[in-house]
Amino acid sequence: MNWVLILALALIVARLTAELWLSRLNQRHVRECATRVPDDLKEVLDPATCAKAVDYTLAKARLGQIHDLWSTGVLLLVLFSGVLPLAFGNWVGQAGPSAWADAAFLLLVVVALSVAALPFDWHAQFRLEERFGFNTTTQATWWLDHVKGLALLWLLGWPLLTLILKLVEWIGPGWWLWAWLTMLAFQVAMFFLAPVILLPLFNKFTPLPTGTLRDRLLGLAARIGFRARDVFVMDGSKRSRHSNAFFTGLGRFRRIVLFDTLAQQLAESELEAVLAHEIGHFKLKHVLKMLGLSAFGALVGFYLVAWLARQAWFGQGFGFHTPNVASTVLLAGLLGGTVSFWLSPILNHRSRRHEFEADRFAAQAIGEAGALIGALRKLNRENLSNPAPHPLYSAFYYSHPTLPERERALQTLGAKPPAG
Ligand SMILES: [Zn+2]
Repeated sequence: MNWVLILALALIVARLTAELWLSRLNQRHVRECATRVPDDLKEVLDPATCAKAVDYTLAKARLGQIHDLWSTGVLLLVLFSGVLPLAFGNWVGQAGPSAWADAAFLLLVVVALSVAALPFDWHAQFRLEERFGFNTTTQATWWLDHVKGLALLWLLGWPLLTLILKLVEWIGPGWWLWAWLTMLAFQVAMFFLAPVILLPLFNKFTPLPTGTLRDRLLGLAARIGFRARDVFVMDGSKRSRHSNAFFTGLGRFRRIVLFDTLAQQLAESELEAVLAHEIGHFKLKHVLKMLGLSAFGALVGFYLVAWLARQAWFGQGFGFHTPNVASTVLLAGLLGGTVSFWLSPILNHRSRRHEFEADRFAAQAIGEAGALIGALRKLNRENLSNPAPHPLYSAFYYSHPTLPERERALQTLGAKPPAG
């Protein structure tokens, strides 16, 4: 085995070890800490709900461990068996060398890997989620979702990837900068268009019907200087009983979306608090900041791929006799997760800070924190959130602070008059 393969193996094993270790740590912590309702959740969970949340957490963790083992096995097989250079060579032999053919090969690998993960997705939805009463997806919807996702991958991904590989031919060594700009333009276009073109392919969005709730929410938006014509309700109940609210799009396509499940679970004052939190993300420019960060990450990524493509040892280490940009993109894509995994605690830390800031914004906009705390408690209960995550596990994986952390932050704030 050459040193490139040894390095790749080390990266893959290091990530798997960390995943399994964190999961074990978390499972043990949940079992120990949640034999009775944790003190900081006494007012939120009754013992039966707490026990159910523990079961749900453990069931998800066990499935997650099997999934991690399986996907690592698949990755090792793909990278170490020599199947990639062999298949790529055959493909180019048949289809001829062209950016279209190279891009198609890369997408076929993506499709093959997602097919390998399909049984886990299916089990998670129709066994695990079903067992805990969350699943509302029908088999037809589930399969149709996958077909639509596949169609979008080819419709959008194929031309984009081809264009990027074409840039290599057209521009030469500086291609990565142009590829990055192309990617950026695509991402920004998607950010504008996704809420009006892509999301409606999967869900129905209806403006909130006229009535006290709509008046109240739009009144809040106007009061804190957020121009919105409508708040949309999404039929999240088509797939799951889990509830959520989110913010999407930019400019005049931006919209605030509440899951119908959320609208059923929360009182009007609580929905108002959730809306204020979402507007907070917008007003505090969290969306732009995250977009900027991911653009920077992509720039580094493209530079690294261009650099690796010039190093013959990299592709040859995996059996590609004449490595090119396409094979480098493929290898970097397969291995990228083993490196980015270690960045997730940093990104999640940032995301949690944004959540605290949006909570504070909401409490100040409404003038008190009670409604937001009420909403967060209900969401925690309804979604069977892990009542006792291990601190290291939540620091690594959680994009949102835990309920007790959010409550503590809101309580130190107290009730303050609306900002501005
Ligand atoms: Zn948030």
